[in-house]
Amino acid sequence: MPTFGFHGAPAGLATRRQLRAVGLRPGGHGPVAQIKWKRGRRWAALYRLDLAAPVRPMTARRWAAHEAAMRARRFCRGHQGYVDHYVRGPLKQCSTCFSCDTNEFERSAY
Ligand SMILES: [Zn+2]
Repeated sequence: MPTFGFHGAPAGLATRRQLRAVGLRPGGHGPVAQIKWKRGRRWAALYRLDLAAPVRPMTARRWAAHEAAMRARRFCRGHQGYVDHYVRGPLKQCSTCFSCDTNEFERSAY
C-alpha cells in the first residue's frame, strides 16, 4: 500500500474524516493508500474520492418513510383530514381548526 507524508497525499484521495466533512463515506472499498506523520506513529487510511458514496443514500424505503412523515404532518386531528400545510400546536390542527373558536384547544383555555 502506498504511503505518503502528512501533506504528500495526491489529489483524489482523502481520509475517512475528510470524506465525512463533505458528506461522503468510503463506498464499500478499502483504503488504497495511507498517510503517516509524527515519524510514522500516527497514520490514516486514504480512500478514493471517486469511489466514495454519500453518507446517507436516499433509498426507495427512505423516501417512503419520508413521504409518510410528511403526510402525517399534514393530517389535521381537528377535522380528521389532510390539509396543504403542516399542522401545528399540541392538538395537531390545521390553521382553519386552530383559528376556529369552537375547537377543543380554545374551549380548554377558558
Ligand atoms: Zn382542520
